[in-house]
Amino acid sequence: MSQSRIRLERVAKCWGATTAVDDISFDVTPGQFVILLGPSGCGKSTTLRMIAGLEEASSGRITIGDRDVTRLPPGDRGLSMVFQSYALFPHLSVADNIVFGLRSRKVPKAEQRERLAKVAELVDLTDYLNRKPAQLSGGQRQRVALARSIISEHPICLMDEPLSNLDARLRSDMRREIKALQSRLEMTVIYVTHDQVEAMSMGDRVILMENGKIVQDGTPDELYNRPASAFAASFIGSPAMSLLPLIKGDQHAVIEGEPSTAVAPIEAAGGQLGIRPEDIELRPTTGSGVLARVLSDEYLGADTIAHLAVGEHTLRVRLSGRQAMTGQHCRIGWPATAVHLFGGDGLRRDDLMPYPLIPTGEMPAVSDAYSPRP
Ligand code: ADP
Ligand code: MG
Repeated sequence: MSQSRIRLERVAKCWGATTAVDDISFDVTPGQFVILLGPSGCGKSTTLRMIAGLEEASSGRITIGDRDVTRLPPGDRGLSMVFQSYALFPHLSVADNIVFGLRSRKVPKAEQRERLAKVAELVDLTDYLNRKPAQLSGGQRQRVALARSIISEHPICLMDEPLSNLDARLRSDMRREIKALQSRLEMTVIYVTHDQVEAMSMGDRVILMENGKIVQDGTPDELYNRPASAFAASFIGSPAMSLLPLIKGDQHAVIEGEPSTAVAPIEAAGGQLGIRPEDIELRPTTGSGVLARVLSDEYLGADTIAHLAVGEHTLRVRLSGRQAMTGQHCRIGWPATAVHLFGGDGLRRDDLMPYPLIPTGEMPAVSDAYSPRP
């Protein structure tokens, strides 16, 4: 098992003046399902391709098990890879596509047949082995690509956005299938995606990247509950956390343009307040809390996402069921523990949290604008 431990030490990749991957280090333990997550262009694929040996690292060291593989060709690294494009041979049958690697490694025919039968069963392709890729659905093609990787019996599998060509429904089925196969076969998987839902639902661990650097490395829970930066906060969660600039009030920090309620300690001024849409509660204007006005509401079936104007900014609120409230005035509140504060540099300020809402006693200058509608 320790043969599938993967370690990156200060790995970088440059193309001329472009630094695609900037000095990153991490360790993957055997059997882990690790997600490389981040926006397009942040360096996920380049990182994966360097581990696979399809790109050469400009600097740093990559080890798999006890072997330094930094300069080894892909075939000597003991891993398999699944691509977004599936990379199937169109003129070969499903069976021939799956055993292609075994054939080129001269695995005996009888063993090929045995392994093929087992893997086809595993990914539910037994009835399709004689078809050509063009006669399969997108999901079935993705299964062929998976089967080809599983049949190699390499303990490490690298996957680069393997589900992005599938429709939403199939994607969610395949997420569960891949996850189940991974734990059943005790594979070590590094999985690249820009989709935070895939990251949250599949990963034991998520490595979030931005501009070639790692910004947070933790469990899905940690990324959701304790985002390390404003960027991490806005990337995880759907809809995303709202981020509101904070300014100095009398003795506390307030949201720019909404001085009636202190939302953070004075030291937080100049930074940002983050609140998740699901943590916000609507209250009548006569109650306490931050003054807000509903700009729009978007009904999604199980819930409604409302966009609210608060001071000079907007934030999102998730409400259950159907709620039509566009144009209404209200107050909003949240538990002290739902507050996320980020400094002027964007980094999390754990020293300033949690923080309760405190009425400042000061009426907002625009109080007339907030009176309830007749
Ligand atoms: P991601 O997979 O996160 O979308 P990539 O790793 O593909 O990002 O790319 C990271 C950066 O490196 C991007 O700016 C991209 O344009 C650049 N890049 C990727 N491959 C090459 C290449 N072969 N030559 C030059 N630049 C590249
Ligand atoms: Mg990519």
